[in-house]
Amino acid sequence: MKENVYQLNIDDFEVGKSQTKLVEFPSFYGLQKVQAPVYVYRAGQKISPCVVVTACIHGDETNGIRIAQSLMLKKLKLSQGTLIILPVVNIYGFMNKLRYLPDRKDLNRCFPGHPKGSFGSRFADFIFQNITRYGDVFIDLHSGGPGRFNVPQIRCDLKTQGIKELIEAISIPLVVNSSLRDGSLRQAISDLNKPCIVFEGGEGLRVDETITKYGVNLVQSIMAKLEMIPAKSKYIKDKVIIKKTKWVRAHEAGILINKAHRGKVVKKEEVVGELRDINGKLITRIKMEHDGVILGISQSAMIMAGDALYNLGFLKESPKDEDEEFFDYFDFET
Ligand SMILES: [Zn+2]
Repeated sequence: MKENVYQLNIDDFEVGKSQTKLVEFPSFYGLQKVQAPVYVYRAGQKISPCVVVTACIHGDETNGIRIAQSLMLKKLKLSQGTLIILPVVNIYGFMNKLRYLPDRKDLNRCFPGHPKGSFGSRFADFIFQNITRYGDVFIDLHSGGPGRFNVPQIRCDLKTQGIKELIEAISIPLVVNSSLRDGSLRQAISDLNKPCIVFEGGEGLRVDETITKYGVNLVQSIMAKLEMIPAKSKYIKDKVIIKKTKWVRAHEAGILINKAHRGKVVKKEEVVGELRDINGKLITRIKMEHDGVILGISQSAMIMAGDALYNLGFLKESPKDEDEEFFDYFDFET
């Protein structure tokens, strides 16, 4: 990118303390300067192990920013390695409360990018080159879009070297395994054979402090696993690996009355919600077509036919009754 105004240089940051600098990103239309924060904490001269946290690749996913902020404000004491945080990657989308870049591209479909490509591709290249220069392990923070709540979950490619060991150390039991060729940051990092974990939790344009707690805990658990900070005492070793997910869609329009808890384990034929007409008359009950766990829920009551209502993660085995307790995230202390 000709206008590649910033190159991350770790030597610009002092050893032994947290520092946040406002750095220059590509400008708005050559008219307005754009600055975004970059946080670096390096324990010593040796950079590795280096954890990179990225948030807000989708400009409206604000819960990731809150997780990044909370980490930046924590008085972390790193015994070794480096923590780099980019709390607002897609600052253009953020300023407009939008998921996308100014060229209407989804940044998370443009990685690894190219210096001579479209704006999306150039910007992806700019971010990718800066963070992969130093990073060993990557954590990319996401949420559902506006009006869609995601239960805290991890998305990763379990085939990538080092992922399984990292996943073992975290306190989030739901792991969605996928190796999509989708132009995401996760895919581009995996192609370098480095681990990248996507955290999904919460809803676009909102901040939910329970979700924040999960995200902060995830990053800290991984840093503890890499012996950068002391280990936390408690984590869930057993994970539920989900290989397939599906959006359950409304067959008719109406007002949605949700009956399912977030993260609920459901059985085939179980009723999870109702659609009613404007007078309150029942139109239809929404039944699950498979056994699974609810990973995401529409937060909108006003539903058109075809709207996505519930994101269902398929379970390999039929859920047992006691599983319901296990997945009650909001009673679970991180
Ligand atoms: Zn996202």
